[in-house]
Amino acid sequence: MREIQIGGLVPFTTIDYPGKLSAVLFLVGCPLRCAYCSNPHLLCPGDGEYDPERIFEWLKNRVNRLEAIVFSGGEALMQSDAVIEYMRRVRSLGFKIGLHTNGFYPDTLARAVDVVDWIGLDFKATRAKYPDLTGQGIAYDNMIRSLDVWQQTGKEFEVRITCDPRFVSKSDLIEITEILSTRNVQNIAIQKYIPHFESDDCKTDVAQRNQFFNDPELRSQINSKFQSVIWRE
Ligand code: SF4
Repeated sequence: MREIQIGGLVPFTTIDYPGKLSAVLFLVGCPLRCAYCSNPHLLCPGDGEYDPERIFEWLKNRVNRLEAIVFSGGEALMQSDAVIEYMRRVRSLGFKIGLHTNGFYPDTLARAVDVVDWIGLDFKATRAKYPDLTGQGIAYDNMIRSLDVWQQTGKEFEVRITCDPRFVSKSDLIEITEILSTRNVQNIAIQKYIPHFESDDCKTDVAQRNQFFNDPELRSQINSKFQSVIWRE
């Protein structure tokens, strides 16, 4: 089996797996091309910067210091069975396994359910706006299939909505949260869009980006539908 391609590492974080001290591995490759991607250097499959075996040795030294290892990207599941096998090895050290995913690979996720303990799943926009935002016509349907796969496990998860005002309006946010509420999703995070590499003519102003967070009526309407709503400003 080919080695996984790791393009980045955060050695210590308290915010990437709920309630657990963790490290994050950023895997190379992603099938989407989101307009706001903050990791464009990770998008194309290729050689990872980090040797997976050296990372594994490093992880062995983190046993009893960290509680979870989060696989992020790019899209970690693009590396298919190679990443599942690596997750299995990491989990055998005693870590919980977290996965940040755009949901593009529901069949791979289904094969990974026994090794992944928690996921953060992106719900990026309404179905109509997904292709413009991600450059992929089937990304929405795949993400919904991934949501179905994960909900059947009964394991914990969070659905994340990044409010880029170019692709998400307040009414879109209501529509998305209604879909999630109807599906009995309990934990969501609404994230502020932060520009990274956009050209000046694509940039949104601060007021546009803050509109979701400065609207008490919107917040209360959404908060009332879920057990937990994190507003990440
Ligand atoms: S899914 Fe994530 S890594 Fe992939 S293009 Fe979108 S923002 Fe970037």
